[in-house]
Amino acid sequence: MIVKTSDGREVPVEMYKIKIIQNVNLIPAEERLKAIENAGYNTFLVRSKDIFIDMLTDSGTNAMSDNQLGAAMLYDDAYAGSESFYKLANAVGKVLGFKYVLPTHQGRASEHLIAKVFVKEGNIVLTNYHFTTTKAHIELVGGKVLEIFGEEALNTQSKYLFKGNMDIQKLKDAINKYGKDKIAFVRMEATTNLIGGQPFSVENLKQVKKVCSDSGIILVMDGSLVSENAYLVQQRESGYKNKSVAEIVKEVVSLADLFYMSARKNSSVKGSIIATNQSDLYEKIKPWLPVYEGFLTYGGMSTKEIEAMAVGLEEMVDQHVASSTIEQVKYFVESLRVQGIPVITPPGGLACHLDAKRFVPHISQDQYPAGALTGALYIASGVRSMERGTISMDRDKDGKEQFADLEITRLAVPRRVYTISHIEYVVDRLLWLYKHRELIKGLTFVDEPPILRFFFGKLKAIDNWGRKLCDAFKKDFGNKM
Ligand SMILES: *Cc1c(COP(=O)(O)O)cnc(C)c1O
Repeated sequence: MIVKTSDGREVPVEMYKIKIIQNVNLIPAEERLKAIENAGYNTFLVRSKDIFIDMLTDSGTNAMSDNQLGAAMLYDDAYAGSESFYKLANAVGKVLGFKYVLPTHQGRASEHLIAKVFVKEGNIVLTNYHFTTTKAHIELVGGKVLEIFGEEALNTQSKYLFKGNMDIQKLKDAINKYGKDKIAFVRMEATTNLIGGQPFSVENLKQVKKVCSDSGIILVMDGSLVSENAYLVQQRESGYKNKSVAEIVKEVVSLADLFYMSARKNSSVKGSIIATNQSDLYEKIKPWLPVYEGFLTYGGMSTKEIEAMAVGLEEMVDQHVASSTIEQVKYFVESLRVQGIPVITPPGGLACHLDAKRFVPHISQDQYPAGALTGALYIASGVRSMERGTISMDRDKDGKEQFADLEITRLAVPRRVYTISHIEYVVDRLLWLYKHRELIKGLTFVDEPPILRFFFGKLKAIDNWGRKLCDAFKKDFGNKM
């Protein structure tokens, strides 16, 4: 909830209290330097015990409510016909309005089944922006992804409120160019992840739907972050101010022919669903569920998680739950922006994104500015973020670097996990880092895997800059911090 302070500021106040806690540890600067050097400046390779605040991702790292944990204990472990499944199916009907539901073990498993059934060799999927795992599954079955976004989508200093919108004219042009038979489906991703958690408007979605219906193409929605998109619509789109998040979610998902979501994000459990009202679409996917995931009434999920998801779906459309991460992110981004720290605007869902091209402009793209900034932040704070820049791209077939559109250090804010004081700490350390940014230099690979190198690749600091940064930090804060 946003509280207005007596001096006129707006501060988000968490609408939960903490009942179960996990202790965290802030190891001294000297040990942090050692940990990041051992990890080859790759935060995926740092152990959790060495991390103070973990902002790597919001996937599978969200906090469950007491009601979710309580419900989990009512699990019915039947191989077939589990009562837990019927509770989930009821919740899907009530919250999302879908008749048919297929549970899978996580978002990419839903993408695997959808790609397998609907994408043929040589097909094209039109989307507002790709997601890593979605693209991988479409390409694995011989399809291609074509992104159709508007002019503002990649502008990191924008005021445009719906950067997740599809460009309708370009969509029509693409359908004319390739023909409807070549297009497997149109995919709209809610709170578009890789361009900074940016939403689409309902108006845009309706136009996309109309083009799809007119040309007989199915509209698939990735709703992993659907409640955040709905909250942003409520805050930003005219005509939605007085509608509840629950009403907006229902309206948004009703426009999709086929819906899927990773429940590791929205709804705070470990799992995923595919849902639809169209029996022909459901029947096409259904036979593959027991082949790749599990029987119809559990798919790839444990029955405990299924019970918790039934409760989590209702919670995710609650105003306080849907708004909590977004308001924390907004506070985070604004606190940095007013002090001149380069962040992506407007703030979206999911995370605070640092624009490394502007934070460390002296580092060229072939020396990985976002990777260097991600490592530097860990040394200066014990905070783990994720590189989303050129390291996250692989080289082309000839070994040439493919430079990313954006060099981003992403600080994800998992749901109901951190408080404003954690965010204040990160903001303060980023201010310190910005003042000392000239100490940060580039990185160079010492061990570079050929594919998805960002997961396991190891790098080192050029001119041993990590040591110099660590010494400067200790001079200001002492070694204990
Ligand atoms: C995380 C995510 C996925 C993949 O979900 P997993 O459960 O991590 O496999 C797919 N789409 C979007 C938009 C996501 O954010």
